[in-house]
Amino acid sequence: MTSEFRYTNSEEVRVWKDHIPLKYKYSIGVAAQKFSSALKEGKLLGFKCSSCSKVYALPLLFCPECFKEIREYVEIKPEGEIYSFTERGEEVVIAVKFPDTYGVLIHKMKKPLAGRPRIGQKVRAVFKKKEERSGDITDILWFELF
Ligand SMILES: [Zn+2]
Repeated sequence: MTSEFRYTNSEEVRVWKDHIPLKYKYSIGVAAQKFSSALKEGKLLGFKCSSCSKVYALPLLFCPECFKEIREYVEIKPEGEIYSFTERGEEVVIAVKFPDTYGVLIHKMKKPLAGRPRIGQKVRAVFKKKEERSGDITDILWFELF
């Protein structure tokens, strides 16, 4: 007589219900921290390469063009234009291109929309009230046409 046991239901082997207590801190990094701090002040920060002078509208530690470390920061006026967009139900997600910068910021449009969005339309960021900001991208409530 054998004592061999075989699972007949594969889920019994693959599923182990329990929990693993993990405690950790996640650092968003130097560049994102600067971007986050600016958001908390109701500002958009650009990351300027001191070598090629390109300004990126997204947090970067190194210039993707010349690979130099970025240590210069400039405030970007929170007004740009719709570079691209997508619609999901009533939600409209846009890529905003700011003048004289590289890269885009992805965010949502204010609802309800007055008509269908168009590429090239001028939009501006609407920030939360100062006391409600946390340094998160959601400190920008939405972008609105102007
Ligand atoms: Zn550069």
